[in-house]
Amino acid sequence: MSEKFIPEHIDPFRYAEQGLCLDGMLKIADMQRLSLNVVPSEAMVNAKLKFGVDEQGITFLTGHLETQLTLQCQRCLEPFTYEIMSHFTLGVVNTLDEANALPEQYEPALATEGNLALRELIEDEIILNLPIIPRHEPEDCKVKLPLADSGWEQGKGENPFHVLQSLKLKQKRE
Ligand SMILES: [Zn+2]
Repeated sequence: MSEKFIPEHIDPFRYAEQGLCLDGMLKIADMQRLSLNVVPSEAMVNAKLKFGVDEQGITFLTGHLETQLTLQCQRCLEPFTYEIMSHFTLGVVNTLDEANALPEQYEPALATEGNLALRELIEDEIILNLPIIPRHEPEDCKVKLPLADSGWEQGKGENPFHVLQSLKLKQKRE
């Protein structure tokens, strides 16, 4: 059984007992913390979540998120599209002690009084997947890297004097 709506809060233990799945869309614009880090857009996140209880009795949820965000390149300040595809497995716990005791394949998801803030958790996962410094791929960026970064100094068979000369010639012609 799969539901389209992604609630703000859920009872993860009930969802896990029933083996529920969710498959829904969320608006990026509704995610306040994430919105601070992206260029405003109509982008949506497709979130697929599945709840269960493993053989050790641990309540878990696996998730798959897909979205295309618009970020601002920190080199040329133009917007660009950044695709995120994230897969994660979380163990649902009630306390930090339980979180520390989780087997290592699980990242902890902390439930408060039996409630899990589901949309917040999805937002957190997307934030975790943002690049530290948003930038175009070098070939797509308007600001070209300095020559030192493009392998020029390592010597690619080009005589630096020839390059300088041809630069000077170019300048004269322009
Ligand atoms: Zn750029």
